[in-house]
Amino acid sequence: MMKTLFLNPPSFEGFDGGAGSRYQGTREIKSFWYPTWLAQPAALIPDSKLVDAPAAGLTIEQVLPMADDYELCVMHTSTPSFRSDAKVAAALKERNPKLMIGMVGAHVAVDPYQSIKYATAVDWVAGNEFDFACKEVADGWNLADIDGITHRVGGQIVRNKPRALLENMDVLPHVVDVYKRDLRIEDYFIGYLPHPYLSVYTGRGCKSRCTFCLWPQTIGGHVYRTRSVEHVVAEIAKAKQYFPQVKEFFFDDDTFTDDLPRAEAIARGLGKLGVRWSCNAKGNVPYETLKVLKENGLQLFVCGYESGNQQILHNIKKGMRVEQLREFSANCRKLGIKIHGTFIVGLPGETKQTIQDTIQFAKEVNPTTIQVSLAAAYPGTFLYNQAKQNGWLMDEDHGRLVGEDGIQVSSISYPHLSSQEIFESLAEFYKKFYFRPGKIWELTSEMLSDWEVMKRRAREGVEFFQFLNQRENREAA
Ligand code: SF4
Repeated sequence: MMKTLFLNPPSFEGFDGGAGSRYQGTREIKSFWYPTWLAQPAALIPDSKLVDAPAAGLTIEQVLPMADDYELCVMHTSTPSFRSDAKVAAALKERNPKLMIGMVGAHVAVDPYQSIKYATAVDWVAGNEFDFACKEVADGWNLADIDGITHRVGGQIVRNKPRALLENMDVLPHVVDVYKRDLRIEDYFIGYLPHPYLSVYTGRGCKSRCTFCLWPQTIGGHVYRTRSVEHVVAEIAKAKQYFPQVKEFFFDDDTFTDDLPRAEAIARGLGKLGVRWSCNAKGNVPYETLKVLKENGLQLFVCGYESGNQQILHNIKKGMRVEQLREFSANCRKLGIKIHGTFIVGLPGETKQTIQDTIQFAKEVNPTTIQVSLAAAYPGTFLYNQAKQNGWLMDEDHGRLVGEDGIQVSSISYPHLSSQEIFESLAEFYKKFYFRPGKIWELTSEMLSDWEVMKRRAREGVEFFQFLNQRENREAA
């Protein structure tokens, strides 16, 4: 078996890259998702090593010498970081010309031919379901025999046949064994979760078809393929033993609540373990299920509201009514389930007025915390094709989803609403949501009742103001 390094490469400072992050960028506050997409194949290869350079604060100079110790390096890449990742691959190859380099992630899965053509140091790129493809490469299979990869043969680029979907997700070993072997869990932060947290996936795919959403349209698909309840609960029991310092577990499936009976069954298993946990949810979970989840340790949902304007929800095929979102939010509040609500400004149909409607709606449903993003058209999504066809993209060059500092830039512009106006509305949204007496009081009370929350929010507050400042400076420049 080839000695294998799984690498989430260094790029922008503080960059939360794609091996665990859906929308890669440097965030308002320090944020790192676990590199779970790399941990999954790493768990299939004994003696491999997973290095998450951004989270561990490793520079390219620190990563380069690792090239000497391995025969195969599998790098995760994303659209915003692809060019930088290609440079890292070239530097690794220069250091050790015998090192075979593969790339995985949505960016290369969507456009394997152009990716491998651009990244000349890369020997192969993988499509979806790359876990076992990585293992087969490490096992020394002939590249021509490995489904789902695109590779070089002489001067030619050859795309093998696609890989079949993994139906039995229990064949993927527990990633927490890799976390224990290779990661320092204190390196991982998410603003709305206690620190340290730990996240895993219990399945892949999302039933919904939101037009902007990257993973279900690329690496996950629209069928929610899941691990068995027992497999999931056993992993959390193991993680609890490995990492007694973990304060909360997070299920980062696109929509953990897509299968309600299963979500309830997992919750009951977790209830027996006595752990606190949170997950991603769609705003359509019925009250009875919310109650079961809450009674068994659920703390918080990350919920994509996206917009408070019904027409925009239709435009992006969200499959939700604002009334449902209102009811869901009220039910969660009643049961004491926190919500981190995510919103997007600049989606198709957006106007100055709909932005104000959404700000008003956010204040009304009042999630505990919010995240506001600029609409981003990632290659491989319906939104990307729509934006391209309509001439909405500021820069058709893939690399311009983030700026030189890794912070997201406004990449879509409409004849009636410029990218600058969309960009400016983001800070306005945050300010109008958070700088309200009621909200300030709510967050202050929470801080006063819990020292851990106090420390975390104080740090985040400083980082948040620095972030707004940085954006405003960029705007003024
Ligand atoms: S429900 Fe959430 S995860 Fe699923 S497609 Fe929509 S935005 Fe993506």
